Amino acid sequence: MSIGGGAHLAIERARSIDCSAMQIFVKNNMQWFARPLRREEIAAFLEHAQRRELQSAFAHANYLINLAATNPQFRSNSLRSLSEELVRADQFELPFLVLHPGAHLGAGEDAGLARIISSIDRVFAGLPKVKTRLALETTAGQGSCLGERFEHLAAIIANVREPERLCVCLDTAHVFAAGYDLATEKSTRNMFVEFDRVIGLDRLAALHLNDSKTARGSRVDRHEHIGKGKIGLDAFRFIMRDRRFRKIPKVLETPKGKDLAEDVVNMKTLRKLAEQKPR
Ligand code: FE
Ligand code: FE
Ligand code: ZN
Repeated sequence: MSIGGGAHLAIERARSIDCSAMQIFVKNNMQWFARPLRREEIAAFLEHAQRRELQSAFAHANYLINLAATNPQFRSNSLRSLSEELVRADQFELPFLVLHPGAHLGAGEDAGLARIISSIDRVFAGLPKVKTRLALETTAGQGSCLGERFEHLAAIIANVREPERLCVCLDTAHVFAAGYDLATEKSTRNMFVEFDRVIGLDRLAALHLNDSKTARGSRVDRHEHIGKGKIGLDAFRFIMRDRRFRKIPKVLETPKGKDLAEDVVNMKTLRKLAEQKPR
């Protein structure tokens, strides 16, 4: 949800279309840095009359950050930018900040994962008081992006110094583009069995519900409206109906205009699926 005009306005936008969960950026998502939040901005968010109407509100990190960056300047910018965003998310009392793990840029998977692990250690070490966790997102594996295999996220969690500060966000469009089978309710269930075996469902903090414009295994990340893409409705029906996901916040990252009409349609589709019989 857009934070244009101030983060507190995102709450009003979300509630105006009956959202029970909301994901926001904590600043402009295409910029490295921003001036610190003012006391009034934090208060406007925390004390907003409608804040308690949202069962869940959390953050997504900006798209410039690459914890596996090979260039020293790019890496130091990434660490500082992520640290600043964690502080902002913490000031807004958000439970976690979703982050794409990083891109190895040709250095190779193992070198990339090692850089991500040491980057996370450094960021957390510098912010001992921040309660907001990092939610590593499953990715489509576009270019040299890591995180398209559950094993990548598991390796990061297993090797950081403070694993209790990490959780995971699963994006349906990304896992599908990465090659996981979501064609039927059964195959979707199996994908989660695999997730549970490799990462553990107890780490799952959020779901990004997006259909995919691109084919399974394409490794290309293009989001589509629910039911209008290559995933189809069965995977979403399974997720909306499975009791284990009841309390896991689900957000859309599908194309939309200012009036949020597309969000309304997509939420309606998902809520209808929750009422249907399993196939
Ligand atoms: Fe993301
Ligand atoms: Fe996502
Ligand atoms: Zn995506």
